[in-house]
Amino acid sequence: MIDEQLNYAPCGYLSLSDEGIIRTINQTLLSLLGFDDQYELKGKHVNTILTVPSKSFYQLYFFPIIKLQERVEEMYLTFKSKTNDDIPFLLNAIRKNRNGEIVNDCMLFQIKKRYEYEQSLLAVKKETEARNRVKREQIAELDLLRRELEFKQKELLEVNAQLEKLAATDGLTGLKNRRSLQEDLASNIALFTKKSQSLSLLLLDLDHFKKINDNYGHLTGDKVLQGLGIILKEELREGDVAARYGGEEFALILPYADQAIAQKIAERIRLRVEGACWINQPVTISIGIATLITGDTVSSLQSRADRALYSSKKRGRNQVTHANHYND
Ligand code: GH3
Ligand code: MG
Ligand code: MG
Repeated sequence: MIDEQLNYAPCGYLSLSDEGIIRTINQTLLSLLGFDDQYELKGKHVNTILTVPSKSFYQLYFFPIIKLQERVEEMYLTFKSKTNDDIPFLLNAIRKNRNGEIVNDCMLFQIKKRYEYEQSLLAVKKETEARNRVKREQIAELDLLRRELEFKQKELLEVNAQLEKLAATDGLTGLKNRRSLQEDLASNIALFTKKSQSLSLLLLDLDHFKKINDNYGHLTGDKVLQGLGIILKEELREGDVAARYGGEEFALILPYADQAIAQKIAERIRLRVEGACWINQPVTISIGIATLITGDTVSSLQSRADRALYSSKKRGRNQVTHANHYND
């Protein structure tokens, strides 16, 4: 017979035989499990009120431990109520010999609250993990996008650079075009005026080019233009600029070249063109040179070089004239 105090103690009490038969169960545990009368459970196997996983746990852990150590401390077991609800308990038990029978006395503390906390903690943990996973995926995706963007930007910069180069280039010869030359000339004039250093501009014009076109055709004419382009490229020093100025006119900006140096370079180019064998007859060029003087602008320097070129033509072509001598 269970005494009053134990029957209504603020925790469950269960006494089990070694076979797992419920010998005694107090009112508190009965109520927690939703039973009205102790005779509903007394004499039944404890499995009646254990969940499936707890049945195995009981068999594999509870029973061997209590048999070996005569006590069990802080073991979690989930019981099954009359209405089949899971009710988790924390269990302490001791093994005793009472009146010649071995009994296993268990005190059970419901851990519903703790269980709920654990469940919600678990849920939060799961949610946090899921969020972190999504975050990691988003970061990876962003990283991929950033890298793609960087690649596209690089491509764009390259395309822009190519376009810029194309916009500044003469298609036939690969030299710079007139617009680009004008820009280079303007910046060079400003720089070399400031530095008080020499700078010369050469204008080169193919002689009787119209006849070459007339006699050999436009395509051959183009080949001559390209040939002159190659010679000019080969003659370029570092910092020099070569451009196709117009149809059969070319220009060279020669930084650090005074009158004497510019004349020497011009003469060398004139001779190279004269000696080239592009067609069955000699091709020649006339050259006009102007060297930077104080107060020069793009147009003043250009027009002096132009007049020097005109002088070369007038004096019989295949000549070099420096603007300082174009009246000679
Ligand atoms: P000059 O010695 O006085 O300079 O005589 P020129 O015949 O060279 O000069 P002119 O200005 O009378 O003729 C230039 C010719 O250059 C006319 C034009 O057909 C030709 N020309 C201009 N651009 C091109 C081109 O891109 N390709 C070819 N093949 N010919 C061109
Ligand atoms: Mg010409
Ligand atoms: Mg011309």
